Amino acid sequence: MAILMDGKALAEKRRGEIALKAEKLKELGVEPALAVILVGDDPASELYVRNKHKACERCGIKSLQYALPADTTREQLDALVDELNADPSVSGILIQSPLPKGLPEREIVARISPDKDVDAFHPENVGRIMRGDYLMRPCTPAGVMDFFEEYDIPLAGKEAVVVGRSDIVGKPMAMLLLQANATVTICHSKTADLGEVTRRADVLVVAVGRAGLIRGDMIKPGACVIDVGMNRVDGKFVGDVAFDEAEKVAGYITPVPGGVGPMTVTELMENTVTAAAAQNGIKL
Ligand code: NDP
Repeated sequence: MAILMDGKALAEKRRGEIALKAEKLKELGVEPALAVILVGDDPASELYVRNKHKACERCGIKSLQYALPADTTREQLDALVDELNADPSVSGILIQSPLPKGLPEREIVARISPDKDVDAFHPENVGRIMRGDYLMRPCTPAGVMDFFEEYDIPLAGKEAVVVGRSDIVGKPMAMLLLQANATVTICHSKTADLGEVTRRADVLVVAVGRAGLIRGDMIKPGACVIDVGMNRVDGKFVGDVAFDEAEKVAGYITPVPGGVGPMTVTELMENTVTAAAAQNGIKL
């Protein structure tokens, strides 16, 4: 039976460490603050924003929320981003995805000052991830790397397979694994024989959004399986990995919920504190 990698427990431990850093910053006269912009009234987005607010409270980070109506114009959103960019009391800015149709998300994200881009989605920060000289890592891949560290999962020289190639999870995940000296393969919807590739993985990270895509017989015995997927099936959240089958084959596995999710929000807190420190020339 696989060892369960407990994201809730790890997140709580990490949030305690982040709270200490936030405390230190406050002693130096800097209050880390995260501005979250929510446009429209998507219930899932509202839930995510509430979770971020709670995490801020836990970590001693000031939480600023901007809830804008669905008919907000590009000009209005740009103006808010400009105002937050210019405000020295704001450490990090996050635009909750997805934006309503008609608002060009990539362009608006690119307007955030790179040093306040705590999602690390700005093209400059994406480039920094490619080069390996980043200050902040995208939150979900960073949270996954935390699991490897916490559970002493070796990466150097190992076969790592990432399923999914999105800009926010799959691609940066592959870059971080590459920097950790894994041999990395990225799979996607056009991959000819997914199982043939995933069975080679010592470390398998799945970020697709399809419940049960990865079956037990697609996993190498003893592998470390990280399930990023979040799918609602019959009112319950499940991942992309068929958990009951996978836990019998894998060496380590993350549950859904309670795996990667809490770590993603935790890394957002880490980035906010990192951004606040860097903006004030403080080394934590
Ligand atoms: P996207 O929809 O942006 O990307 C999905 C990727 O999966 C694409 O690259 C797509 O390939 C690939 N894919 C689709 N079908 C298959 C298939 N049959 N076999 C192999 N690959 C396939 O999703 P995201 O990366 O944004 O999110 C992925 C999942 O992770 C979602 O369930 C999301 O909810 C969850 N998530 C969870 C987070 C957390 O904190 N727990 C944070 C972020 C996301 P192609 O490029 O060819 O279309």
